[in-house]
Amino acid sequence: MISELSLGVLCREEAIAAPERTSSEKRTGTIRYMIDQGVNFINLGHPLLFKNPETACEYVKNALDGGYREKVKLAINVPTHRVSSQQELSNSLAAQLELFGLDSVDFCVLDGVNRFNWAALKSIGISAWVESISASRISSHAGIAFHDDPHYLKDINGTYPHWAFVQMELSLLDYKHHPGAGGFKFTQEYNNGVIAAGITKSGRLLKNIPENVEDVLENAQVKQSPEERCVKWVLAFEEVSSAQLSIESECPTTKHAQRYLRYAEDVTPGEPDVWESLDAARIRDAYYANRDYLCTSCYCCMPCAVGIDAPRIIELVNDGKMFSNSAIPKLQYSIERHQDIECLQCGLCNKHCPKRLPIQKIVLDASCAYAQK
Ligand code: SF4
Ligand code: SF4
Repeated sequence: MISELSLGVLCREEAIAAPERTSSEKRTGTIRYMIDQGVNFINLGHPLLFKNPETACEYVKNALDGGYREKVKLAINVPTHRVSSQQELSNSLAAQLELFGLDSVDFCVLDGVNRFNWAALKSIGISAWVESISASRISSHAGIAFHDDPHYLKDINGTYPHWAFVQMELSLLDYKHHPGAGGFKFTQEYNNGVIAAGITKSGRLLKNIPENVEDVLENAQVKQSPEERCVKWVLAFEEVSSAQLSIESECPTTKHAQRYLRYAEDVTPGEPDVWESLDAARIRDAYYANRDYLCTSCYCCMPCAVGIDAPRIIELVNDGKMFSNSAIPKLQYSIERHQDIECLQCGLCNKHCPKRLPIQKIVLDASCAYAQK
């Protein structure tokens, strides 16, 4: 069973930030402190995003020395964006095992699963691949990190009913979005654990809070600090097995870890009460009011002849605007490999959008702003 709080290291926000911001010793200490307090699951993040992956992994390897490896379950993420063979998945898993000096791992997480990647994964025989890494004891269990409408989980679970967990971005903001709490129905049906990641949107719900959101927070019914509100809101859902904290955004030091552990102890799982839900809805509305485009993710603009995922690109653009921070959406754009496809400028997506959004222009602007040259 995964502990109520789990830890994510080498996350995308860590790849963006200067790694020397918090010393490696402090991070090693924080990991060990959390394990000593009962945290039993660490997601090993995305070491291949770092300029120097060997150096980036050092503090994690140090933390796992001295018997700590045996006290904790580890998960390695295997990206699924535009994967076209089982070999690509195996290569990515092997490269990361080598970086961490591991022969095997407890969980392999297929990262970035959505309707499009899932179709590709099915076509390359994903169930057989998962079974093969399990049979060869490279990874004992498999899970998915999922971002899409909840009902796609039905086919994903129907195709391979043994996922140990579904990791999803779940925060005050994502309550109704990809998959949001709507995903619980499907995870419960297949007895999947739920790992809530991004509970503070990579720290963006904790600092540089926009004025209109500050106003809402000042008048909130439940008085809490942003970090307390974020973690308690997620853990209030009984369907959530674990809230994953990032060492970069939420838990850089043991002091931060102590606070989160204390908040988690206060939570009685069930669901957020009426006042917490009202506050969350007001906060969500205030953030959403700052978006540039009122895209509902209806996907009427799809399919695109060349496979451009315009709703996802718009989501990333809106993210940058909501949080006045384009670094994370820019990295995410690259991880998801949107830059690999060139828009034909056919304009068909514009015609199908019920909101009359200038999709073609948004896609082009995002390509200019986010594509790594
Ligand atoms: S304009 Fe670009 S994004 Fe829109 S449908 Fe045509 S190719 Fe796809
Ligand atoms: S059709 Fe318009 S509102 Fe719907 S997903 Fe596409 S861009 Fe968004």
